[in-house]
Amino acid sequence: MLNLIFFFILGAAFGSFLNVCIHRLPRGESIFYPPSHCPNCKKKLRLIDLVPIISYLFLRGKCCHCKSPISFRYPLVEIITGLSFVLVAVAFPPQKNLLDFMFSLLFVFFMIMVFFSDLETQVVPDAATFGGIVFGLTFNFIRGLNSSGEAIFAPFLSAFSGMILGSSLLFLIGWLGKIVFKKDAMGEGDLYLGAFLGAYLGWQGVLLSIFLAYLLAGVFCVGLLLMRKVKMEEYIPFGPALALGGFITLFFGPQIIAWYVSILAL
Ligand SMILES: [Zn+2]
Repeated sequence: MLNLIFFFILGAAFGSFLNVCIHRLPRGESIFYPPSHCPNCKKKLRLIDLVPIISYLFLRGKCCHCKSPISFRYPLVEIITGLSFVLVAVAFPPQKNLLDFMFSLLFVFFMIMVFFSDLETQVVPDAATFGGIVFGLTFNFIRGLNSSGEAIFAPFLSAFSGMILGSSLLFLIGWLGKIVFKKDAMGEGDLYLGAFLGAYLGWQGVLLSIFLAYLLAGVFCVGLLLMRKVKMEEYIPFGPALALGGFITLFFGPQIIAWYVSILAL
């Protein structure tokens, strides 16, 4: 229990850093300089204002200098990252396989970044996707080294083909969408995100992620249309759905795929 609390606090601290990335990366700003400041009055934040979640409650969601409201996204990302780190620690215990644990933490970190960046700014930061592709391929290469014979290369080959499959499948869907709906349905960032998901989750994982993304986006859009929150021709970013699909696949992918295969075998 104590170690889960530790992972939650660790995650919340990373979430605090994620908030900086989510705000700055899509705007092409440095994530290290200048130090954290209020986007409204530009004044530097005090050390105590940087404590995740608690500082938001303590400040009652307002800047300590100019009293302008702080986006609820800040504590939300911190809580979600904290919970995600706990989930990773439960699903991939570090004492069992440290490599899986470390890379899964990185993966959820990137997924949360993509989710909120795209939702807020309609930009999937290249730093997240290109960084993700490199670390995904690296992870699967190292993972294979535990095996022997030809199996050494199996995870890497799955990752490499997943990278190609993810980006080309989304490209194809976007291309068809353009013909049918006469407008760009898929951003360039989505294609890189597809490559990232494939490079990390392998070819089966990326197929499942894309399928889940369409399922989630479909349900979400029907819901919004029914509530008359959006109009049919409005733009809805697809990146968050892909990130969520990848997130679910990381934790439940093998079970869902095994279940699907068992249905096919009936
Ligand atoms: Zn301020």
